Amino acid sequence: MLGQDQYLMFEPSVGSNVHEHFDVLVVGAGISGINAAYHLSKQCPDTSYVVLEAFESFGGTWLSHKYPGIRSDSDLYTFGYSFKPWVGPPIATAEEILTYLGEVIDENGLENQIRYHHQILTATWSSKDNLWTVTVNRQDVDQQVRFTANFLYMGQGYYRHGEGYWPEWPEMDKFEGQLVHSEEWPEDIDYADQNVVVIGSGASAATIVPNMCDKAAHVTMLQRSPTYFRTGRNAIEIADALRKIDIDETWIHEITRQQILYEQSAFTEQTFKDPDQVRDDLIGEIRRLLGAKYDVETHFTPNYRPWRQRIAFVPDADLFKCISSGRASVVTDEVERFIATGLVLKSGQELEADLIVAATGFNMNAFGDIVFEVDGNTIDFNETLTYRGMMCTGVPNMVNVFGYFRASWTLRADLVANFTCRLLGHMEKLGARSVIVAPTPDDARMQTGDWISDENFNPNYVKRALHLLPKTGDKPKWQHTQDYWRDKDEFPAIDPNSPEFVYKTQ
Ligand SMILES: Cc1cc2nc3c(=O)[nH]c(=O)nc-3n(C[C@H](O)[C@H](O)[C@H](O)COP(=O)(O)OP(=O)(O)OC[C@H]3O[C@@H](n4cnc5c(N)ncnc54)[C@H](O)[C@@H]3O)c2cc1C
Repeated sequence: MLGQDQYLMFEPSVGSNVHEHFDVLVVGAGISGINAAYHLSKQCPDTSYVVLEAFESFGGTWLSHKYPGIRSDSDLYTFGYSFKPWVGPPIATAEEILTYLGEVIDENGLENQIRYHHQILTATWSSKDNLWTVTVNRQDVDQQVRFTANFLYMGQGYYRHGEGYWPEWPEMDKFEGQLVHSEEWPEDIDYADQNVVVIGSGASAATIVPNMCDKAAHVTMLQRSPTYFRTGRNAIEIADALRKIDIDETWIHEITRQQILYEQSAFTEQTFKDPDQVRDDLIGEIRRLLGAKYDVETHFTPNYRPWRQRIAFVPDADLFKCISSGRASVVTDEVERFIATGLVLKSGQELEADLIVAATGFNMNAFGDIVFEVDGNTIDFNETLTYRGMMCTGVPNMVNVFGYFRASWTLRADLVANFTCRLLGHMEKLGARSVIVAPTPDDARMQTGDWISDENFNPNYVKRALHLLPKTGDKPKWQHTQDYWRDKDEFPAIDPNSPEFVYKTQ
């Protein structure tokens, strides 16, 4: 495929002068990489591919996160794959997600194509050879090895695994208790009967607090500012009803997906059209759960439009049940400094703690921290322009999966994989050896800006990383619109003959 004539094949890639060649090299064996492997094997059966994964196993996010209660906050009907029915409760634990992914690998014979302990360090494109050369640190044998590939499929996720974002709090070393980060959870932590303070208010904090509060003496969620939450039963009525009358799981999966997507679309639209009403509804629900005496105004009334940051789903309202029972509480304030026994807050209040958990998020990275070079020039992705959030100007033969903030990540992984298979087929027909995206003369006059606007979506982890991410143009095709409902129609209709795709046959 792709007109590649020098098909190099060697035995396993140990040793600096030996390398293996594949048509497509997939980075990462998380949800995105496994999805790519599935679609490549089904839609492009003559295409050779390999998946290189730094970890010892598959799953990415669902393998690397170990904090108590780790679970999805998307429903698995849409966070799961379109091609494999989800048959459990919609919100799933990391373990359930790993089991599901393991089944996908087994049922489709993907295992032989995945290489674990392979951390990719560099990716170098040669226009002379129309080839990527990828250097890899094989952590299992502590050796650097090389692969070559015609095409790179980036399923590396969007943050640095195993490394939390630590705000710079004064005098952290004074604290005499235990201090851990949700992204770096130790295996052997015992918090029975301890006073725990969880710093943060995102999905991780909202999961950790209810999951620690049975065992701990008390859990305090310390937040700088409030977040929106949605609650509901961890069940989907229509799925349960269809299951009761013995409908085939494939149908249940599809119907439930469509219903969820329809409802999410209506909700997202409403957050833009009538944000005040959505805000009132969301906060009204929390008020109902916590009772009239609770200070919802201070602790659960965010100062931004709903959906400008991710809205965490709290299944069965477990967080709010813990707060109501008195086993957990919320403090809205800021850390002034650490002391031996806990924290002093900006208000002067002291919080005693045996254990402090920083649930302060992660550090985003770009393209798996891989150093990219094209014909001798190091790529600064911030100087490239994104094509629909999946290709970058100046970087040939490469697609990237970056999912949705307001819908399940996997929905986009599917769109990108399907498009890539079409693009590879098109290149084969043309006899093209490389493809690059480039603005047409008309597009070249576009205003460019940050990868996502502050008005659209503005959590701190994104703001901290904008300098690493590609720029966007003022036309939707040069943006990651974060709009699944638009992409689901537009992606299948992308014409690989349109002028922004520039092919080379030599
Ligand atoms: C705690 C948490 C909960 C989340 N919950 C949801 C949710 O409910 N719904 C939702 O839509 N999204 C959620 N997300 C976002 C989430 O990361 C994705 O949805 C998802 O699992 C992404 O899958 P992925 O395969 O693209 O990336 P990842 O899960 O990040 O996997 C990427 C894989 O690539 C590997 N890799 C990266 N760089 C390299 C390299 N240089 N060389 C080799 N291998 C490499 C990594 O080791 C990893 O295994 C959550 C994120 C977090 C942190």
